[in-house]
Amino acid sequence: MNIGLVAHDSKKILMQNFCVAYRSILSKNELYATGTTGRLIEEVTNLSIHKFLAGHLGGEQQIGAQIENNNIDLMIFLRDPYSTNKNEPNTRKILNLCDTHNIPIATNVATAELLIRALDRGDLEWREFYK
Ligand code: PGA
Repeated sequence: MNIGLVAHDSKKILMQNFCVAYRSILSKNELYATGTTGRLIEEVTNLSIHKFLAGHLGGEQQIGAQIENNNIDLMIFLRDPYSTNKNEPNTRKILNLCDTHNIPIATNVATAELLIRALDRGDLEWREFYK
């Protein structure tokens, strides 16, 4: 399965910790991330990640295009609802695309844990029928 990973700046350490904790599940899947998020995850996990541009330099659009192309099966977007950084990706665009294409998305780490465990159990196998 293809997993998309994006974290707003204040959530990047949380994303790193999440990926360390679930490294063994993540390692069995293809990982896609915006530039900085991907680099930071690689640094602590040694996982291999398809890194797009930094979010504000087009990475958000690139990951959005992957969703539109039905190439993302599960999206984890750890967002900071109070972020005032205008350079950070607009959560709504990614949420809209996931809702349009019926892609499971977690926007906080509690849901991310549920989804990653569900993925590991095989609960997202139905995604294969859509490909
Ligand atoms: P980044 O993009 O991973 O390149 O930082 C996401 C963000 O800008 O929050």
